[in-house]
Amino acid sequence: MSFSNLGLSPKVESAVIAAGFETPTPIQAQAIPVAVTGRDVLGIAQTGTGKTASFVLPMLTRLERGRARARMPRTLILEPTRELAAQVADAFELLGKSHRLTVALLIGGVSYDEQDKKLDRGADVVIATPGRLLDHFERGKLLLNSIEILVVDEADRMLDMGFIPDIERICKVLPFTRQTLFFSATMPPEIQRLADNFLHTPERIEVSPPATAATTIVQRLKKTSDLPADKREALRGLIRDHEIKNAIIFCNRKKDVGIVFRSLQRHGFNAGALHGDMDQRQRTATLDAFRSGEIPILVASDVAARGLDIPEVSHVFNYDVPVHPEDYVHRIGRTGRAGREGHAAMLVTPKDHKALKAIHAMLRTEIPWVDGAPKAEELDESVASSRENGRGRRRGGRSQRGGRKPENTTETAAPKRHEPPEPEIKAKSEADAPKRAAKPPRKGSDGGKPAAKDKSRSGQQRENQPVGMGDHVPAFMMRPVRAS
Ligand code: ADP
Ligand code: MG
Repeated sequence: MSFSNLGLSPKVESAVIAAGFETPTPIQAQAIPVAVTGRDVLGIAQTGTGKTASFVLPMLTRLERGRARARMPRTLILEPTRELAAQVADAFELLGKSHRLTVALLIGGVSYDEQDKKLDRGADVVIATPGRLLDHFERGKLLLNSIEILVVDEADRMLDMGFIPDIERICKVLPFTRQTLFFSATMPPEIQRLADNFLHTPERIEVSPPATAATTIVQRLKKTSDLPADKREALRGLIRDHEIKNAIIFCNRKKDVGIVFRSLQRHGFNAGALHGDMDQRQRTATLDAFRSGEIPILVASDVAARGLDIPEVSHVFNYDVPVHPEDYVHRIGRTGRAGREGHAAMLVTPKDHKALKAIHAMLRTEIPWVDGAPKAEELDESVASSRENGRGRRRGGRSQRGGRKPENTTETAAPKRHEPPEPEIKAKSEADAPKRAAKPPRKGSDGGKPAAKDKSRSGQQRENQPVGMGDHVPAFMMRPVRAS
């Protein structure tokens, strides 16, 4: 299989060869021949499978005819985060070297002026995060009625970040006759519905079952108490027990990213942190340092790390069990890429067993424990069952742009027991970013005094907690009790 029989133009073919791509990945092999004909594509494939080139290459081929007019871009690519948008822009630069196309990158954290100028000159390709795109659109700086191709990339991430209403708004102002290329790592029902609404008889291309972790990843679980200090110690144990080339440590909450990062630094680990509050420059600098190996350990939240192309991570450590089982697959998918052996280890507290069960159910296998599985009495079912309720708030509870109510309001009624996951890099915060210069991670500070921080967190939790169990009575409490 080569790139020469996929229907790409000769110019694009030579660009692919120049870029060093020899064989198309499965998603590329299947999506490109359809996309070059102008048909809609619904592409489902895991992170790291080459989805970017699956749309960039056919787009380049199709863009060879015609040219852009001022403020009327011809193609639009929507990405959930700035980093992903910037990565796609890089792909255009690499693969479209000889095309002389104008690419406008519309992302937050960057001044409007420069972006306006690009649009005024006429952009062939606009790569944007939904919020920033709508800002430009509402300011009358770009017209969307000559869009020939729309790409919605990382659609499941768009959903996680509350961007679906934005995407719906954008789709509605685009020409009906456009081509739509839609890519996602997973297909939750909301995404299927979006695809049903905005794609016209698409070719559905599903490359590997979305919820299977690469088999080249050695996965392990390690039990720990849920005391933050114990968890951090267990994490250090994991890092020391493994021969690490480089590692990503995932936390569920932004706050913990900072705490874990500073704690590791205090213990002499060379680590960096990546979270949604950092400005673009800091994020890029941290990522570059991680890519180059200057910083071998990166502490990150799902949001900050989403879809980033970081090659050859030897280890993934889950400081927290992710709330959504799909996130587990995304997280560990950072290692064991391209057939290399990867390692993933996760800390599991007594409160995590329900979430762990969901992961096992999704994987259809049980991950082995480093030092024996915890006994039944070590599990904390009451907390575990309320944890499940936390799930709905992330999807439904986020404030949505345009004041639209989230659809799944039943889920938002769940008891507010856990601290909500990190607020996403939302449209608004993007627009505000230049003003709100984010705090850099404090190097060499006293490390955030974990004890004090943890106290304030539980304080916040208490505030959000309903009295008793709220309306929710876990099923196990309804079981008859045997007196001893
Ligand atoms: P996804 O969007 O599916 O997560 P990307 O498009 O970011 O994945 O691709 C992941 C990595 O694989 C990138 O570094 C990209 O340059 C590389 N890549 C993509 N296609 C090929 C190919 N056909 N041959 C070799 N490398 C490729
Ligand atoms: Mg991608």
